[in-house]
Amino acid sequence: VTALADPQSLTALERQVAARVAARRQELVALLCELIGYDTRTHVVGDPPRQEVELQTSLARRLERVGADVSVAEPDVGLIADHPLVPDHFSFAGRPQLVARFAGAGGGRTLLLNGHVDVVDADPQEGWLSHPFIGDARDGAVWGRGACDMKGGVASMVVAAETLAEMRIRLRGDLVVNTVTDEESTGAGGLVSARTLRADGAIVPEPTSLGIAIACRGSLLPTLTVQGRTGHAGSPPRHHDDGGNVNAIDKAIYLIDAVRRLRDDWSLHRAHPYLAPADCVTTSIRGGDWIVSYPGSCVVNFHIEYLPASDGSDPAAHVCAEFEDWVMRAASADPWLRTHPPRVQWLVGGVPPAAVAGDAAIVQLLAGADRALGRRGELSGFDNWHDGASLIVEGGIPSVCYGPGRLAVAHTVDEQVPVDDLVNCCQGIAVAAMRFCELDG
Ligand SMILES: [Zn+2]
Repeated sequence: VTALADPQSLTALERQVAARVAARRQELVALLCELIGYDTRTHVVGDPPRQEVELQTSLARRLERVGADVSVAEPDVGLIADHPLVPDHFSFAGRPQLVARFAGAGGGRTLLLNGHVDVVDADPQEGWLSHPFIGDARDGAVWGRGACDMKGGVASMVVAAETLAEMRIRLRGDLVVNTVTDEESTGAGGLVSARTLRADGAIVPEPTSLGIAIACRGSLLPTLTVQGRTGHAGSPPRHHDDGGNVNAIDKAIYLIDAVRRLRDDWSLHRAHPYLAPADCVTTSIRGGDWIVSYPGSCVVNFHIEYLPASDGSDPAAHVCAEFEDWVMRAASADPWLRTHPPRVQWLVGGVPPAAVAGDAAIVQLLAGADRALGRRGELSGFDNWHDGASLIVEGGIPSVCYGPGRLAVAHTVDEQVPVDDLVNCCQGIAVAAMRFCELDG
């Protein structure tokens, strides 16, 4: 990673923009509370839409009012139907995607601001101190489902674009505001953006505590099917070569333990400066049929999180081979599994890791803007997957996460975001946009 430029200072115009954003603090809070109030809980295929139209329409009106060319439309699923993340019968009906373009004067870079408006459910609601779907501003924070993941980030990016437009800051490149659905479920909204929007850089304000996250981990979903030999649970032990019963659950536990050692091995390889090590978690186990029978089979699911290669490419094939080899070597050391090896399958739903170079323009200019605003401008990673990964992998758009609130608070009871973070993120995006898209004249 190239060393960052020296901290710069703000120009007079940038200072005015930052001051205008700071003066809009209550407006930011009000917009976030409004967004939290729309029911945009994530869904499975076939669920009716909720209030996605209302949310997107409200943002469209705001952005139109300050001169954006806005489209709110349900994309053709055919654009993304080939992608493994998109389930059969998927539809955007009632869940439109918003694209608001502030056209530049020409000759500058296009910046995409992308955020998802869907949220995870808030059940059970007993633990919440305030209603999860009524934004509650108190103690210097806004509380509610989606406060940090990521309606807070959406509010910050919308107000940033709005402020530049209202102040009639003329940019050379286009500034594009894009709010999507279906991130928490499938990533389908972000996939459409990646395949239809062109930009020279993107900021996705997922909660990073205003770190500039330039990499995220990918995931893979292996399943082991372990065979035993069923029979009466009360029969005396007998060797399997002599027709004895074999407990598939016991054999699965042996393999789970082997995978745990693989996880330990990975955890000792701190191979990435900004991301947690690769991980493999046992997520479900299903075995046995009857309370007085030996289990004849056992199915175990795992969730692998893995790192991008040092050149940013996807080492999925290598990770799959390593996992399979590890499991098969463990199996070969067991007298039953040696001749009855487990079946390894890879479920659909894994996502690729993604990374952008530390010296990419969007990284350097955003870090410089953040520092000029008096903050750290620190590069970081985002261990969870997000739509920015699709923008990088599918769209070839260098994308970073830079958003208000802490990732550890996302999806939790009493999710919240500090109001200072909302303001700081909004300022950072506005100044970065001025530098990335370049001022005209
Ligand atoms: Zn998110």
